[in-house]
Amino acid sequence: MVKHGIISTNFKAFAGVDTMDEFIKELDPNLDYLEHKIIGNEVIVYAASNRKICRCPYCGSESARIHSRYEKSFQDLPIMGKKTKVVIENRKFFCDNPDCGFTTFAERFDFLAQKGKKTKRLIEKIVDVSLNTSSTTASRTLKDGIADVGKSTICSLLKKRYASS
Ligand SMILES: [Zn+2]
Repeated sequence: MVKHGIISTNFKAFAGVDTMDEFIKELDPNLDYLEHKIIGNEVIVYAASNRKICRCPYCGSESARIHSRYEKSFQDLPIMGKKTKVVIENRKFFCDNPDCGFTTFAERFDFLAQKGKKTKRLIEKIVDVSLNTSSTTASRTLKDGIADVGKSTICSLLKKRYASS
């Protein structure tokens, strides 16, 4: 396990381990909560996937052979009114299917668009807040304990929302 520095001493006062694990498992039941730290008004939650086998998104073959690991982070819904960043040690697997055009693939999650930096549930929240207000006001409201989102991001999220409905 990688060491992530200081863990908050306010841990118990802040939230129980069970609560944090539930929060993470709402994203994906195969994620385990590891630890968290609080820096200013941001919570950083460390989690890891416990899936033994992953399916190659290109050909559908299953693999349990890990190629490498890298850190993946994204913003999620606030915890206790603090902006929340989740960090997972994401795994790359080998695809052993000789007919597949790819030799490796990264584990993917339904709660996050590929290469997305915000969870789908956070995007929903941002869109909700922004629907009936200007993007400047929305950006200011969101900055206060939900997420740092610029005006242009808000506009493009709203556009995507309207395009898909
Ligand atoms: Zn494959």
